[in-house]
Amino acid sequence: MQERLLYEGKAKRVYATSDPQQVVVEFKDDATAFNGMKRGQIAGKGEVNAAMSVRLFRLLADHGMATHFRQQLDARRLLTDYLRMVPLEVVVRNRVAGSLQKRTGLPEGTELAEPVVEFYYKNDALGDPLLNGDHIRILQLASPDRVARLRADALGINHVLTGFLADRKLLLVDFKLEFGMVDDVLKLGDEISPDTCRLWDRDSLTKLDKDRFRQDLGDVEGAYQEVLRRVLS
Ligand code: UDP
Repeated sequence: MQERLLYEGKAKRVYATSDPQQVVVEFKDDATAFNGMKRGQIAGKGEVNAAMSVRLFRLLADHGMATHFRQQLDARRLLTDYLRMVPLEVVVRNRVAGSLQKRTGLPEGTELAEPVVEFYYKNDALGDPLLNGDHIRILQLASPDRVARLRADALGINHVLTGFLADRKLLLVDFKLEFGMVDDVLKLGDEISPDTCRLWDRDSLTKLDKDRFRQDLGDVEGAYQEVLRRVLS
């Protein structure tokens, strides 16, 4: 089924299949941070990220939300729709962390009265800069209608994920989504995992995500396994 390598990113490989409408996504154990400046491996990460993404894509489908997921092929590989990607990363935030902490000076962990949605330009050469609506318009990356739709979809996904994870004693601090098109239909693509979400234990506020790798907090593998255990419970 899996054929030519179409694309290799930092954490995933994408292969063509005999059907141009489908691709195979393979999750790697490789980890990078700070625009590729920090590199390493997280044992078992590929399998955790594949399994968690599958569970959460199914959850979103149960709530009527379109995703690229079709089928899990094995522990690291998913069969998905081929999407024409929107060149934006959509970040949703429920609490202050990471670049929002740097940008605002607010203390890490501050609860936001309403979720914040941000758009970043997927452009490695520019370092994926934050864009506002006018920037997206002059670059013609998405129409104003599509930007409104991305925002609404991201907030809907946040609502579903926040509740599901709260039931498992996980705080969804923030996360990144990527969307793409099949014909005229917008679908969620990429992954939903501890690489792309900040997840804290509800009671101890322990970080259980890629910040353990970024900040050298130790036991990265254990945190990823613990998140998966809770998500599958
Ligand atoms: N994120 C991501 N990929 C990126 C940048 C950010 O998955 O290239 C996720 C990140 O894990 C966090 C959220 O998006 O859950 C917000 O990230 P932030 O803007 O705070 O940047 P960071 O501190 O990760 O550089």
